[in-house]
Amino acid sequence: MKLLQVPELDHTIVVSKTITTETAHRLTNYAGKCAHIHGHSWQWTVKVRCGLMSNGLAIDFGDIKQVLNSRIHDLFDHAIVLHELDPLVGYASDLGMEIGAMLAPIPGGETRVVVVDANPTSENMALYAKKVLWEDLRTRNPSVASVKVIVNETCTSAAEV
Ligand SMILES: [Zn+2]
Repeated sequence: MKLLQVPELDHTIVVSKTITTETAHRLTNYAGKCAHIHGHSWQWTVKVRCGLMSNGLAIDFGDIKQVLNSRIHDLFDHAIVLHELDPLVGYASDLGMEIGAMLAPIPGGETRVVVVDANPTSENMALYAKKVLWEDLRTRNPSVASVKVIVNETCTSAAEV
């Protein structure tokens, strides 16, 4: 049986991988409910467009997963993401503390606070993810032509870049 019956077709493929993180955040310069500290089960999907290799793979799903885990999961899972202009960050600074040390579960314990230079919206998180995933995936596989990232903050709300 011939699996590839039209070899002259464009063999550019889009493969995707999704991970989830449990991540808290709050928005600054915003008057709605998301100005309160709250958490989501974030879903991070990357769609990778690249050429088909002679072995029939576009890019190994394991490679995509490894990049998602190292650049997204390890950073954001069970963490709180705060804008550097968040008053909480300023409050810690006024006390002469790092915000991570202030929020660590035990004194001197591991901190899971990520201070970022922009409001931690789904849109900005997606832009960050697109940049770092593109860099890593392109380095691993030069045939990667583009990446698209979809960040679901809830099951009905997503940002795509
Ligand atoms: Zn939120």
